[in-house]
This record gives sequence, C-alpha cells and structure tokens, in this order.
Amino acid sequence: MATTLSLRSAARLAARAAAPRASGPRPAIVRPAVVFQNQIRGYKKAAQPMRDVMTGEIIQMPDIDASLVEVTKTNSPKDKLPPSKLRFGHTFTDHMLTIPWSSSSGWGTPEIKPYAKLELDPSSTVFHYAFCLFEGMKAYRNEDGTVRLFRPDMNMARMNRSASRIALPQFDGKQLEELIKKLVVLDSEWIPKEKGYSLYIRPTLIGTQNALGVNPSSDALLFVICSPVGPYYASGFKPVQLLATTKFVRAAPGGTGGYKLGANYAPGVVPQAEAAKEGYSQNLWLLGEEHALTEVGTMNLFVAFKKPDGSVELVTPPLDDVVLPGVTRDSALQLARAHESGELVIPGLPEKMTVSERKLIMADLVEAEKNGTLLEVFGTGTAAIVSAVDKIGYEGRDINIPTGPDGLGAIAKGILDRITAIQTGEIEHPWSVIANGSKA
Ligand SMILES: *Cc1c(COP(=O)(O)O)cnc(C)c1O
Repeated sequence: MATTLSLRSAARLAARAAAPRASGPRPAIVRPAVVFQNQIRGYKKAAQPMRDVMTGEIIQMPDIDASLVEVTKTNSPKDKLPPSKLRFGHTFTDHMLTIPWSSSSGWGTPEIKPYAKLELDPSSTVFHYAFCLFEGMKAYRNEDGTVRLFRPDMNMARMNRSASRIALPQFDGKQLEELIKKLVVLDSEWIPKEKGYSLYIRPTLIGTQNALGVNPSSDALLFVICSPVGPYYASGFKPVQLLATTKFVRAAPGGTGGYKLGANYAPGVVPQAEAAKEGYSQNLWLLGEEHALTEVGTMNLFVAFKKPDGSVELVTPPLDDVVLPGVTRDSALQLARAHESGELVIPGLPEKMTVSERKLIMADLVEAEKNGTLLEVFGTGTAAIVSAVDKIGYEGRDINIPTGPDGLGAIAKGILDRITAIQTGEIEHPWSVIANGSKA
C-alpha cells in the first residue's frame, strides 16, 4: 500500500516537472504496451497523464472516465412545481454534473452533486472572449419508469466539433454520455409522467483560464444541468411568423454558424426584438445578394414544394458554415428519405415525394407562392421538434403559407408524430437509447 502511494506521488511530481506547455488539447496517442504497463501497476483509474515508459514523455492526458464519478446526493431536495406551471428553462433539477479540465492534467474527476452556483474567477476566459459552447438534448420517461435519450451520440459528436472550433478540449463522447445517463436517472423523478413532458439537458463547456489573453484556454469546465419541460404544443399547434431579415446576418461563410457556440446567440436577440416590433416571432436568416435561406430563429429550415408532375419536393438548405447540423434536421431527413425510397411509410407524407438538400433563395419562395406550389414551411429543433410557419415578411409584403386546419401541415405533422413516437419508445428504434436499462 505504502509503496503504491509513494510510486503514485513520485509519478505526480514527475508529471508536474515535465508538464507540457499550456497549448490546448494534445492529440491522444494510445500505445497498447503503455496502457498495459499502467494497468498492471494499478494506474488505470488514476487521473494522471500517461507516460512513455522509456522516455517519460507524456503521451496521453486523462480523458473523461465515467467509472471515476463521485456522486453526492442532495440533502435538501427542492420542491417540484406542478407540471402545468413549468416554463421552458426556468426550473432545474436537484443535481448537476461537473468535470474540470486543465492542459497540464487533462480531464479530472467527474462529479454528480447538488445543483449549485459555480465559483469562477472574474478573469475567466468565458467572461471575456466567449469560450463557451453548449448542447441541447432531451430525456423522456415512460409510465413504466424507463428513461430514454434521443440520439445522444449525435450531441456528443457535435459538442466535440464545437470544442475543436474554439480550442476547448475534446473528450470521449461515450464517457460523457454514460455520465449524463447517470445524472438523468438520478433526477428522473423530475420528469412529469404526463404525456408530452420531458427533461431538457444542457451540456455546456466553458473556458476557465484565470488570465486575460486571446489564446487557447489552459483550463475548462464541462457541466450539465437539466430542466423539466412541458409539452411544446400544450394548447394546439401555433404557426410562427417570420421576418426575412436583410439587415443582419446570423452566420457567414468561414464563420461559426455551423457550431453550437454561445457567441452565436446573443447577437440574434436584437434582430429578433426588431422582428417582434413588426409583428413577427422569429427571423428568417438569409445570406448574400440572392437572399439564400439558411435557418429560422434557432431552428433548421424545411420547405415543401408541389412539382409539375404532382409529386412533392421537400427541401432543406445543405450543411455548411452557415447552417447548424441539427439532430432533428438529420432525423427528419433520414425519415423522409426512408419514406421516399419506400422503405418506410410515414402517415401524412405524400406518396410521391423527393427529398433534397439544396440551396434555396427567396425568389424560389416568392415564385412558388405566386404559382400556388408553396406547400409547407417549417423549422426543426430539439425544443419543439417541428414548428410550422404561416407567414414570411419579405421586402415589405407577406408571403402566406398554408398550414392546414390544425395549424401544422401534413408533412410537418407526419415527421413530428414519427420522431415523437421514437423518442418515447412507442416505436422501437435504435435512435432511442435507454438510460436505466430496461428496469421499471
Ligand atoms: C440547436 C440549433 C438547431 C437545432 O438543432 P437540434 O439538434 O435539432 O436541436 C438549429 N439551428 C441552430 C442555430 C441551433 O442552435
């Protein structure tokens, strides 16, 4: 025992002496022989850098390791609001997950602990240079107590992609997914059992280096908080009105619009307030001289056109610098393509339908409205799944879009129903991942 301890502290001292320069995450190189050496010495679980046995050089920083999690349960659970009183993003559960990172010691010990304030130095890079990225995902609870996540691997991959864009550390997404499952299961009583309720999960990664300077942050904090949310369409489907915005842009080629960075969102608030003043609920974000359509508010965009041969084309702008790769967008596309190929029949979707990822410009919409071929416009995103659009203000007049008698077009409704059924486990699908085994 004593020998192990002294060996460990010797290794720690050596690690400190040979700490690499604070220059952001190092690529992980796994050398099986070294992994094996460390395992037989009992180092597997120790959160310290892995070194080459011959040269002593650091070859791998500790990644997130879910098996090291320390769980501290709250002694004072909060009162839960009646489900009908929940407002999106205003109530948080009893616990949170935190994982610190530093460039000299890699990812530290994950902790699940009572929800609490963070204590950060005022010089932390997140406060000055927007070293901040986030994810949005949901957990669903069935009557039998099964808790499900929807395509969590997609959120983990996107989070790593965002991290790489602003030089924050990357991590093993599978390990974070395991920790999120643990957190969500611990707080699953917070998900009201009534139909349509879910738990909104907000993984966040911030730069916490205590020094000003626009360079890769030497320290970071990953945290996850959860908020119970009610059904988005509690009082029926409400179509939204968009203002096609030519005065502001959300994202530009070569910029960061395709990444879920905190810095992308504050600048959208004033344009939205201006749209609201004119009676529109969201911005339709355009790009370039041709007024190419990109996204709606903070959702991806879909448009359905009737073709001369009577078939329907469902279009969404392609993924590039200016379009965020939405999980709901990808799911809607995959489902629509399965329907297109006949592999799957989704009720509500037209029998003859083609699916395209292609550029759309405002002139396409203006012309389709004139010809009576503009069938549907809707947004997709985790919060609402789909959101129908019934009006687009553009260059001083309104383009009107049909939304059907119940406020949601047939294609949007078909996709909403199918995704919801998968999320809640009503339809078994590999996208739906059970967080607490199959236990009741
Ligand atoms: C999060 C987000 C979306 C939707 O992504 P989902 O993964 O479907 O929730 C779309 N556009 C923007 C700008 C976003 O931030």
